[in-house]
Amino acid sequence: MKQDCVFCKIVAGEIPSSKVYEDKKSLAFLDISPINKGHTLLIPKEHYEDMFSLPDDKLKELSAVLKKVSKAVIKGVKADGLNIGMNNKSAAGQIVFHAHFHLIPRYKNDGLKSWPQDKYENTDEMNKYKEMVAKSF
Ligand code: AMP
Ligand code: ZN
Repeated sequence: MKQDCVFCKIVAGEIPSSKVYEDKKSLAFLDISPINKGHTLLIPKEHYEDMFSLPDDKLKELSAVLKKVSKAVIKGVKADGLNIGMNNKSAAGQIVFHAHFHLIPRYKNDGLKSWPQDKYENTDEMNKYKEMVAKSF
């Protein structure tokens, strides 16, 4: 447990949460400021800052839970769809530095806009970006 981590405090029961699912290693609870009502956060109980510090085997276990909780969110709030998101690092909007997935129920015509889309200037530029990523493994 990390002392100043709000999600570790939730795991420890030191601050309340609207828990929807719990097992030995993971916990899911409602986001206090939902994008749509029913917006749920899924976390590993152990403290890892973000996806990159979460070991592969733990990420794999958590992803099976992610699917299970996703189905319950959709069914429970009668959603038409679900966005799954994860903010990693502050530049990506991460505020709580305890790895978590956002499960956001979506409805037809719920008015939420998707992210803005950019355009590549041409095929060369797109190839350049393809290479930058592809050669980084
Ligand atoms: P992120 O930007 O991905 O780090 O998002 C952190 C999320 O945690 C935000 O959507 C907050 O609304 C949510 N949050 C912060 N504190 C709590 C809390 N005590 N209980 C439930 N959700 C929280
Ligand atoms: Zn934590």
